[in-house]
Amino acid sequence: MITLALSKGRIFDETLPLLKAAGIEVLEDPEKSRKLILTTNQPDVRVVLVRATDVPTYVQYGGADLGITGKDTLLEHGGDGLYQPLDLQIAKCRISVAVRSDFDYASAVRQGSRLKVATKYVAIAREFFAAKGVHVDLIKLYGSMELAPLTGLADAIVDLVSTGNTLKANQLVEVEHIMDISSRLVVNQAALKLKQAPIRKIIDAFAAALAKQAQA
Ligand code: AMP
Repeated sequence: MITLALSKGRIFDETLPLLKAAGIEVLEDPEKSRKLILTTNQPDVRVVLVRATDVPTYVQYGGADLGITGKDTLLEHGGDGLYQPLDLQIAKCRISVAVRSDFDYASAVRQGSRLKVATKYVAIAREFFAAKGVHVDLIKLYGSMELAPLTGLADAIVDLVSTGNTLKANQLVEVEHIMDISSRLVVNQAALKLKQAPIRKIIDAFAAALAKQAQA
């Protein structure tokens, strides 16, 4: 049995065409069922639904053989024990610093002020500001990051941005683009050895589908 860990929503939806290219069709719709294990048209391939931030853990410890997760999640989690063969170019966005539109970020940085930064991405934020030589107090949040500068909890946030609509709706502006994010295929290294043929087949089919997309 090959187990693939996915998170519901964007990653699940954008993975379906890649799975199809590998001859795998998921037989259940996660939006219509509460099931966490989904069968596919291949009797020896199943999909498990986990929180996006849990995908690396499932794959690292062998709860799943493969998984798909954002570069953001991998950087926060650390890639220990994970083989990362492919950038799947899905769920694309960027990770940025944003502040209230009336906050003078440039002069706060120039003056060497200590910035209060709220984020889910503490490791990424710490490394980014350390490289710039900016002193920060990091405040770990699990969601609704945009609220932090609006309520005075923080001066800035580090968060994922796609269209920028969420920032705009909350009178926040993007002041730094930290990095581009997309989702990666991650593989348990022991599984790669033990189940080499079926796992290679999936990796190769994904790679071929990506190459075809790139040509189109
Ligand atoms: P947007 O309004 O399109 O800029 O989207 C921003 C919101 O969607 C933020 O709350 C982000 O955390 C979330 N978001 C954007 N892109 C992604 C992604 N690829 N994966 C997960 N969350 C995302």
